[in-house]
Amino acid sequence: SSSVSSSSSSSSSLTMAQGDEDRVINLDHGDPTMYESYWQKMGDETTILIPGWQFMSYFSDATNLCWFLEPEFAKQIVRLHKVVGNAVTENRYIVVGTGSTQLFQAALYALSPTTEADPISVVSAAPYYSSYPVITDCLKSRLYEWAGDARSFSKNGPYIEIVTSPNNPDGYARHSVVNSRDGTLIHDLAYYWPQYTPISSPANYDLMLFTVSKSTGHAGMRIGWALVKDEDVARKMTKYIELNTIGVSKDSQLRAAVVLKVISNSCERPNEVDSFFEFSYHHMAKRWKQLRQAVHQSGLFSVPDFPPQLCKFLNRVFEPQPAFAWLKCEGEIEDCESFLRSKRILTRGGKHFGVSPKYVRISMLDRDKNYDTFIERMSMIRA
Ligand code: PMP
Repeated sequence: SSSVSSSSSSSSSLTMAQGDEDRVINLDHGDPTMYESYWQKMGDETTILIPGWQFMSYFSDATNLCWFLEPEFAKQIVRLHKVVGNAVTENRYIVVGTGSTQLFQAALYALSPTTEADPISVVSAAPYYSSYPVITDCLKSRLYEWAGDARSFSKNGPYIEIVTSPNNPDGYARHSVVNSRDGTLIHDLAYYWPQYTPISSPANYDLMLFTVSKSTGHAGMRIGWALVKDEDVARKMTKYIELNTIGVSKDSQLRAAVVLKVISNSCERPNEVDSFFEFSYHHMAKRWKQLRQAVHQSGLFSVPDFPPQLCKFLNRVFEPQPAFAWLKCEGEIEDCESFLRSKRILTRGGKHFGVSPKYVRISMLDRDKNYDTFIERMSMIRA
């Protein structure tokens, strides 16, 4: 049987090598599979076992405003933010959601006035995360509607501005841009973690969204959390989730609690090799170095440059290394997405983010095998 397996493995590696040039590299979605290798290395540390009779109730803590929030998950959220220093958790309500996607919708529901005749405008500065307009308008709500690029928003009256920092797709740190007192802000801080950007101070906004998808890489768990200052807003967000899904999977919350706990523990150990943020920081640093080199070699593209800053968590100065590369075709090519598709690299074009098709967004979080092939192909493209 050993001869059978060795011959089959050599023939499969042969076909792989031959087929690799034709292989389609899909970097359109921000699927965070890069993190699998860290969690594989951690073995059973985050494995949990749930007996069939446990966690059957709808309720987690009936005395909490967010009654479906697992207390252990809440505890680990507070602990991790303290360890990393990226968000203030004091005097905040925590609302858990099925991904931050659900919490974004809960926030729109909670922040919309019920007394206005017209839907409230929802804006974000372009380039903005491509899901905001589609999610905002999918049900053609009478409460809120997408009003596009925050920089060109000039309507009087109340509005909601989404501030994504670091931003998806371009990675820049952001502040609100509409200059009016009638606005309410949603801060989407999915990428405010030290593997992507220097942590300069704890974020201290009224409504902040976080997700395990981009922090730990567990997108499939579908868990996000909101830190909310205003009790009434937190109550309405909780109500929305009650109406929408009657709570959030306890299995996922318990799994998320263990994952956050293992990360906090790993940060407090002196052994740097095991630290989750050291691992992911170095992984991202290496990938950005490779990408900048390939982009430079091609002479066809550019990627943003970022000013270096001190990260108080990692205690070092570095340039942001975002989860997406915001690539621009500098030459004659007008449609960067189609051009890269002809090289069998799938990306998301600028139009989805409210800007020119000369730009594309490329996920930096795929598995090594795909990322390496992507870099190889990029290095071979010439002006
Ligand atoms: N906000 C931003 C800025 C994102 O990039 C993403 C994921 N692509 C989300 C929210 C959604 O995350 P989740 O998986 O928690 O729904």
